[in-house]
Amino acid sequence: MKLDEFMAKVKSKNLAQPEFLQAVEEVVESIWPVVEENPRFKEAKILERIVEPERVIMFRVPWVDDQGEVQVNRGYRIEFNSALGPYKGGLRFHPTVTLGILKFLGFEQIFKNSLTTLPMGGGKGGSDFDPKGKSDNEVMRFCQAFMSELFRHIGPNTDVPAGDIGVGGREIGYMFGMYKKIKNEFTGVLTGKGRNWGGSLIRPEATGYGAVFFAEEMLKTKGESFQGKTVVISGSGNVAQYATEKVNQLGGKVVTLSDSSGYIYDPDGIKGEKWEFVMHLKNVRRGRIKEYAEKYHVKYVEGGRPWDIKCDVALPCATQNELNDDEANTLVKNGCICVSEGANMPSTPEAVKIFLENKILYGPGKAANAGGVATSGLEMSQNSLRFNWSREEVEEKLHDIMINIHKQCVKYGKEGDFVNYVKGANVAGFIKVAEAMLDHGVV
Ligand code: NDP
Repeated sequence: MKLDEFMAKVKSKNLAQPEFLQAVEEVVESIWPVVEENPRFKEAKILERIVEPERVIMFRVPWVDDQGEVQVNRGYRIEFNSALGPYKGGLRFHPTVTLGILKFLGFEQIFKNSLTTLPMGGGKGGSDFDPKGKSDNEVMRFCQAFMSELFRHIGPNTDVPAGDIGVGGREIGYMFGMYKKIKNEFTGVLTGKGRNWGGSLIRPEATGYGAVFFAEEMLKTKGESFQGKTVVISGSGNVAQYATEKVNQLGGKVVTLSDSSGYIYDPDGIKGEKWEFVMHLKNVRRGRIKEYAEKYHVKYVEGGRPWDIKCDVALPCATQNELNDDEANTLVKNGCICVSEGANMPSTPEAVKIFLENKILYGPGKAANAGGVATSGLEMSQNSLRFNWSREEVEEKLHDIMINIHKQCVKYGKEGDFVNYVKGANVAGFIKVAEAMLDHGVV
């Protein structure tokens, strides 16, 4: 079979799931030669099996809002692949959540988790519930309703969800409380837990820090560092916040942040008290990034994305397909040498092509943002050990994991003096999963 024929078959089975097809195509393009050269993978139909989730769970989530009105949302859990360990991956609460979005995220998660070298399979879940504008009580009632179905499908040795867009410490807390009540069991069934009840230090920071560590490794291959670099970041949620903190610690200057309404541009850098302001604005007051521009009298671009701001390094940390080919061209033209993806699949396929053609340092999400799930893996280990590592210990382990992921990408992605990190991440992630699937037989 040819690649086109394979993709046509996947398309016919997954109509109206464009993001899932986009993610599959990118991976399959990279790994096709590996499968062609390996008759064992071909005979066992590893590719045909790996694009099919082991299990898809969809359920009704009814709850009552503050006005006493019944609301109905849809809940999902995609248990995609358990070849390397229990399903692991976040829960996303956002109105754009569909089956196709979660299948793309679950599929990416298989290879990302493999790259971490920790024993975790791939999964993803969530709901079309929008936490924005809801009271704490409404969020709690929704989380409880969601968990009153999800609990029967997950467990510390089966499937261990975490947070993602719209799911932070507050939501994990409410869901954990409900799981504990229904099962009468205090276990590490979720990661991203609070510090006092089984959470790991550095888990909130991990994805953002990891994306910066990965960028640092890429920069080192060119004899460069973050020192004195201008950095453009999108988003202002969990990943963007801690990516900003780590860039500041490494001597770079972050000049933009955004949310779905627009972006701010602060040429003096978002650091110190200004960074604290963002943390309070987004995590406590749950306000809009526009308020930063009002407080510090800087530029705010309503409805805009920050990619036309001149920079050395770009860190997309908001959402999928938030950086297109025109914007990729603008970044390259403006002298950007490095893009490290904190978000999942933020660059469109056309944008990725431009980064590769121009041979800039481009770290795709499944490698660059793997620090989040890696630290979730460390949280699971600490829960099993009933022991907590110190901040320094967890950060050092996270740093080592990111250095190791970078090494694997270089090993499989080197093309002369250029490293194709897309190929490197896909091939390195795939081989381990494929070998494990062979070992387990046709299941
Ligand atoms: P948060 O919910 O904390 O923040 C999301 C940010 O992205 C917000 O600023 C949000 O703005 C913005 N955003 C969301 N949707 C859109 C959109 N359609 N257009 C423009 N901006 C948007 O989520 P996280 O920071 O946790 O996640 C960000 C990205 O990182 C996602 O792609 C996620 O999958 C990925 N990721 C997260 C990990 C984690 O550990 N949290 C791990 C690995 C990857 P607004 O408030 O206006 O919606």
